[in-house]
Amino acid sequence: MSLDEIEAELVLMGEKKFRAKQIFQWLHCKRIFDFDEMTDISIQLRKRLKEKFCTKRLFIAKRLASSIDNTVKYLYRLSDGNYVETVLMEYSYGHSICVSTQVGCKMGCRFCASAIAGFVRNLEPSEILMQIYETERDSGLRVSGVVLMGIGEPLDNYDNVTKFLRLLSDKNGNDLSLRHVSLSTCGIVPRIYDLAELHFGLTLSVSLHCADNDKRSEIMPVNLTYNMNSLIEACRYYFERTGRRVTFEYAVIDNVNSSDADADRLADLLRGMNCHVNLIPVNTVKERNYRTARAGVEDFAKRLGKRGINATVRRTLGSDIEAACGQLRRDAIDHSTNGGADN
Ligand code: SAH
Repeated sequence: MSLDEIEAELVLMGEKKFRAKQIFQWLHCKRIFDFDEMTDISIQLRKRLKEKFCTKRLFIAKRLASSIDNTVKYLYRLSDGNYVETVLMEYSYGHSICVSTQVGCKMGCRFCASAIAGFVRNLEPSEILMQIYETERDSGLRVSGVVLMGIGEPLDNYDNVTKFLRLLSDKNGNDLSLRHVSLSTCGIVPRIYDLAELHFGLTLSVSLHCADNDKRSEIMPVNLTYNMNSLIEACRYYFERTGRRVTFEYAVIDNVNSSDADADRLADLLRGMNCHVNLIPVNTVKERNYRTARAGVEDFAKRLGKRGINATVRRTLGSDIEAACGQLRRDAIDHSTNGGADN
């Protein structure tokens, strides 16, 4: 609930409005989720709050720490028994966290492990936020950046994701600047226009992965609904409206999108646009035989550079702990359907 919503509820309960800010600060600043521990609130009100409201916690079902680069991957169990994944990453400038926005995903991108385990439901704003709070509690760290690049398509859960972003950045609470947030989408075009109007200041990352419309449809079915040209047009609009440079993500896949001609097509598509290309060596997903060659990615980057397109190769983190989207959740489901325990 937002601060305004808590205020409205308290007024309905015949309580003073300022109590809302106290509760909000217990939750978002002190990270106290048990009403009994909110000691500046009368015992009587705490009791009434407990009767009427709950705070949903997440439980760590699995915690995998990389032995190469300090990346930690959490498999969280939600209160209804579903699982989502969260990844904590260390960079020179601080810690960044990658959160999930849905239990599963409907988008069906061919190379993505999240698509394999299917879609179950949207995450609530609090379930997205609690991935950050529980991870900060467990690690003892404070994250300085958030990326919405875990399981799910954030713009397919638009209302809850935007509410989460408002909670995350609320001046009375956690107060993280949304300039330190990246939202990644496979290209739900109408929601990109909506997001531009909110002026959140976040970075829009677009999973492009291919600069040929028909080929993109083959690996990303969302392209059949919102084609590549309409997506690029929306990205141009996003930049014009917000002044924020769009990032294009491009997983370089052997024999799919990695040829010289593919690089040239990408350069043609993005020429003149104020954007950045992030090349990703594709993560091997065991059910799929997509492969990448790191050297091939570097060549691809050079070819783009020569054509005036600013491209970087994403550093691979957590390669020893299956840190790519959806890999752990899929395994947890496999184990439970095989009668195995998840612990
Ligand atoms: N649904 C959103 C966010 C989740 S995926 C989106 O599509 O952008 C986060 C990023 O990881 C996306 O760019 C996605 O395309 C990419 N990705 C998925 N599977 C991958 C794989 N096997 N290797 C490399 N990147 C992958």
